Amino acid sequence: MKNVPIVVVGASLAGLRAVEGCRRAGYAGPLTLVGAEEHLPYDRPPLSKAFLDAGHDRPAESTFRSEDEIHELDVDLRLGQLATRLDIEACAIVVGEESLPYSSLIIATGAHARALPGEALPGVHTLRTVDDARRIREALDAGARTVVVGGGFIGSEVASAARKRGVDVTIVEAADTPLVHAVGSEMAQVCARLHARHDTRLLCGVGVSALEGAGRVQRVVLSDNTSLEADLVVVGIGAAPATGWLEDSGLDLDDGIVCDETLRTSAPNVYAAGDVARWHNPLFERRMRLEHWTSAAEQGAFAARNALEPDSAKPFETVPYFWSDWYSQRLQMVGIGDADEVRLLGDPDADSWIALYRLDDRLVGALSLNRPGRIMKYRALISRRAAWDEALEFAHA
Ligand code: FAD
Repeated sequence: MKNVPIVVVGASLAGLRAVEGCRRAGYAGPLTLVGAEEHLPYDRPPLSKAFLDAGHDRPAESTFRSEDEIHELDVDLRLGQLATRLDIEACAIVVGEESLPYSSLIIATGAHARALPGEALPGVHTLRTVDDARRIREALDAGARTVVVGGGFIGSEVASAARKRGVDVTIVEAADTPLVHAVGSEMAQVCARLHARHDTRLLCGVGVSALEGAGRVQRVVLSDNTSLEADLVVVGIGAAPATGWLEDSGLDLDDGIVCDETLRTSAPNVYAAGDVARWHNPLFERRMRLEHWTSAAEQGAFAARNALEPDSAKPFETVPYFWSDWYSQRLQMVGIGDADEVRLLGDPDADSWIALYRLDDRLVGALSLNRPGRIMKYRALISRRAAWDEALEFAHA
């Protein structure tokens, strides 16, 4: 197997961290990184934030490493190439016409933005790639009346970027409150109030029944038979793991690639990392698939290490963490949001608060607005399985 490469599929955050992790661990053998996009690996969070601000044109700045820096990793970089099949028996993947054998495989194919059913009219976009972000920014530059479908984190960031420019924007959310699944109903309502405070119209409990227009989108027809005039529609209704190419592989799939606690999949020498991986997180004793920057980066490095030393593979446990920027304010969540009790510390209408989440007698989560230092202290408490009483003591100390 000496000349058979370690192959990483997915040339984004988790994939790049996997390649870097292999080299950092001293692996000097052949390494191949296959990515469907033409771009060098780049950072996605800025795409719904600074990238949409007026006057910015910064795709190059969000590239993680220059081409030269990637070549220093001595990696066979294959951009613009889609892996279409995994043959577990042959230990090979298919890329174009070629069969690429692997000694170990790390799958980091991430997720695709979900689209509304039917053919998309011009002017209707999802936001996952830098090309999507460019198109959305162009429309915002032209002052497009904007409708955001879905009041999740990315939709909310797009809405706040549009408001910053003074663009007319409405968020349409099918649930009674957005983000309930992520932060629980009580805090979801507190977050939703941020939109009202910044004059973004948020319509809840109403779906989209049609997108209409002659040649391009002109209006969004809602399930209550009202309609909204729109030049730009951004669909932010979540993401689906990019596992289509693995469907006939025999790999265990269940809303992502099923992995054990070491990120090992059901196939020998095959690991998964990032948004595509559903792994057993020992810290919460449950399977999770996260769509968060920090865990994707951590898992890429971890999967590489475990692929190199499978006999001493270590479990990957983490406290989920993500942030989101709305109207120049920072929301941050650590841990999990499904809890028996949520305790809000502070005034929900103030510019800074923190909420703690209890499950049984443990602190399992915390959500904050503009408390970056504090929230990380709660992350540390969750990481060492701190009791609820201890968290409250810390909160009031
Ligand atoms: P991805 O970044 O999805 O990369 C997967 C790569 O694999 C893609 O380049 C894809 O083209 C490629 N690929 C897919 N299938 C194949 C195939 N068959 N063959 C070859 N290549 C393939 N997280 C936060 O914590 N905070 C934030 O504020 C935040 N903001 C975000 C804003 C936006 C607009 C988006 C889209 C995401 C945001 N995230 C945020 C999430 C974060 O960016 C992701 O968790 C992270 O990008 C996941 O990295 P990944 O490498 O697992 O997958």
